[in-house]
Amino acid sequence: MTDNPGARPDADRVRSTVAGLMPGLLTDLQALVSIPSIAFPGFPPEPVHAMSGAVVDLFRRSGIDDVRLLEIPGGYPAVYADVPGPAGSPTVLLYAHYDVQPAPVQGWDSDPWVATRKDDGRIYGRGASDDISGLVIHAGTMQALAGRLPVGVRLLVEGEEETISHLEDYVEANPELFACDAFVIADMGNQEVGRPALTTALRGEVSCTVRVRTLDHPVHSGLFGGAAPDALVSLIRILATLHDEQGNTIVQGVTTGDWPGADIDEDGYRESSGLLDGVDLVGTGSLASRLWSKPSATVIGIDAPTVQEASNVLLPEATAKVSMRIVPGADADHELEALMGHLRSAAPWNVIVEVEKVKVGWPFAADMSGPVLRTASEALEAAFGRPAEQIGSGGSIPLVATLKKVAPTAAVLLWGAEDLALSRIHASNESVDPREIEDMVVAQVLTLMGLAGTQVATG
Ligand SMILES: [Zn+2]
Repeated sequence: MTDNPGARPDADRVRSTVAGLMPGLLTDLQALVSIPSIAFPGFPPEPVHAMSGAVVDLFRRSGIDDVRLLEIPGGYPAVYADVPGPAGSPTVLLYAHYDVQPAPVQGWDSDPWVATRKDDGRIYGRGASDDISGLVIHAGTMQALAGRLPVGVRLLVEGEEETISHLEDYVEANPELFACDAFVIADMGNQEVGRPALTTALRGEVSCTVRVRTLDHPVHSGLFGGAAPDALVSLIRILATLHDEQGNTIVQGVTTGDWPGADIDEDGYRESSGLLDGVDLVGTGSLASRLWSKPSATVIGIDAPTVQEASNVLLPEATAKVSMRIVPGADADHELEALMGHLRSAAPWNVIVEVEKVKVGWPFAADMSGPVLRTASEALEAAFGRPAEQIGSGGSIPLVATLKKVAPTAAVLLWGAEDLALSRIHASNESVDPREIEDMVVAQVLTLMGLAGTQVATG
């Protein structure tokens, strides 16, 4: 690698350095997969603590001597380090998470807690992709740049990304620890292996409950049914107004648009979503628009008698929880008000409707004009040998909004080795392709080298 971090980075030399690091990085990844660090309530805390210790050890071996655990009140510790760069250089915060999803044995072809390399070259195991690959990309980046870090680096590897996180409150209470010029969030992925992408948009999520009341108490459906309205039937009618015949979400006043970047391959989407044969896709417009730039409302729960306990009565009361993904750039408070207003106004027969706010999660849209995303885009092209595309993500990362509060001018870079086509994050047979990790380490090293000495704050 070049001794002058301001010089044009030498991609080939970075590539060979990283290639030499890969066997060690994969050994670390495989060891970490064996620790079931599930931070969900009800799961044992010991493996989560064992994992946080193992991650500290990995980064210490990667050249960060003073990496440490931050005690997060009410939650699991986060792995943190603050490594100064050359005078005047920008600071980059590298984010990943070490907690993983649970792995019910059903559906797995190999033990989820034993990293298993298969003939397709991929490594299978819970967390191999989400997000152990992300923290290994950061470790590889630090190893490749050891002793000649071109920028300041802050490391943040949290332990509660998959569950109720206590990190956001901690970040708001300790903003000085997280100030930086760029956030690099390695918890995303390309559409498929070898096809580099920057995630430039995240949908947000808002939710509310809607409760319908029609009667003072349950009454016999034979004696009363046909004239008095049933609460569950009324609720179903309200919920049915959220979509049109084609399945588009139609909430008055909610932002919608067309995705300007790459589209999504329909066969790949059908495969990765597990859509059953013969079942139609819903919505209209390009697949990318439906997933990344149009709203999508879902009924995620209903309180009503189960089929088992059903009896022949008119129900006096029923409640549903409605969640709506909202588009990048939208005002989350406004979108939730629109959803709640829609639900209230859709009530038939003057039934009594109470709508309550549950959650407001803001969407994210990257500013592509700044130097960080430009540098990253060039680095991806150099690492993968083809131009990077811009993709969105239907998922939300609430932490992004919190980080933007403590560093409003910082750029946010979202990428990683969790390829959409095959990695099956959160599902059975989760896996990662080691080539993707290698190329992402190269891209990340080149990005940090490219940012050295640049004025990155976008204002
Ligand atoms: Zn993740």
